[in-house]
Amino acid sequence: MKKLQMVDLKSQYDKIKDTVNASIQEVLDTTTYINGPQVHQFQNALEGYLDVKHVIPCANGTDALQIAMMGLGLKPGDEVITADFTFAATVEVIALLQLTPVLVDVDMETMNISIDAIKKAITPNTKAIVPVHLFGRAANMEAIMQLALEHDLYVIEDNAQAIGANYTFKDGSKKKVGAIGHVASTSFFPSKNLGCYGDGGAIFTNDDALAHTLRGIVNHGMYVRYHHDVVGVNSRLDSVQAAVLNAKLPHLNDYNKARRAAAAKYNVAFANHKNIVTPVFDLNGDDHVFHQYTLRIIDADRNALMEHLQNKGVPCAIYYPIPLHSQKAYLDVRYREDDFPVTNQLVNEVISLPMHTELDDEQIGFIVDSVLEFFK
Ligand SMILES: *Cc1c(COP(=O)(O)O)cnc(C)c1O
Repeated sequence: MKKLQMVDLKSQYDKIKDTVNASIQEVLDTTTYINGPQVHQFQNALEGYLDVKHVIPCANGTDALQIAMMGLGLKPGDEVITADFTFAATVEVIALLQLTPVLVDVDMETMNISIDAIKKAITPNTKAIVPVHLFGRAANMEAIMQLALEHDLYVIEDNAQAIGANYTFKDGSKKKVGAIGHVASTSFFPSKNLGCYGDGGAIFTNDDALAHTLRGIVNHGMYVRYHHDVVGVNSRLDSVQAAVLNAKLPHLNDYNKARRAAAAKYNVAFANHKNIVTPVFDLNGDDHVFHQYTLRIIDADRNALMEHLQNKGVPCAIYYPIPLHSQKAYLDVRYREDDFPVTNQLVNEVISLPMHTELDDEQIGFIVDSVLEFFK
């Protein structure tokens, strides 16, 4: 059996090696390391793929979120609502810009931001909602956009984990996540569904004026060379990373299909187990691209299961072990423990199994057997 890994980037690379190498070689031959034609080519290709008017490439997914918030002109003291159960980058940039993070609970079934919790958290100071499409599953965008419309709020989609997922509206129409809110961010960190071979990120928007503002912010606030109209940052996707992404974007749908196929096999194997809750497949159309495959372990010792799997050579991980509202950096006197019953439960129950594009049946079988063996 091929060695089990949470993410197998080497096997994936081996299959597309010739295209990737040629694409990188072109950058080396032309030395256009910064803002080379590869970056524009990727920007255009991604705009087409997502069906979004503007893609602004940048250095990583955390910058993308920060720049999106800067572009919207959010001011210190503005309240920004986001999920308590997510990677820290989301809340980090809110705090860094001296905006006020307002963490709210998530839904048990989707592990995404709870619409009821958002409603309760809205105040006259609320300016934006940041839904995270966690683990590859689209958040409930229709309800979120409706709330935003009612309360005049911006919606910033953190799409670092769900690029390529479709959101299906009640009328049956579909959009790619990241193309629905006022602005969205993504990450091309190597292990993400569309990963480069270093750091990378992008911001998406359908708003022409906002896109113009964002293009200046990523480039030191310059709209005309050496004229700095606003305070900006230096955040670029370099040409080598763009070259890698140009070689990989044509495979993204197949990659997501492979992840969904692996998740479907896991789900069948764990169906109706009294200690295992599997992620619901296709809760709302093809809305899940399984950045992570995350189970809930109930009435059993999750940490002992982890140890058992590690002894069997099956990698696994806890995403995420601590709620953001309990992290030292984000403590706030306004939070009460009973505001976060779902997150507080999830951090004790979740376990993520290996999930990537190269999992074969033998590997999935071994992982499944190893999990089931623990409960015998
Ligand atoms: C990975 C990730 C980010 C940050 O992306 P980087 O490219 O690592 O900066 C932000 N939000 C979420 C939900 C992520 O998973």
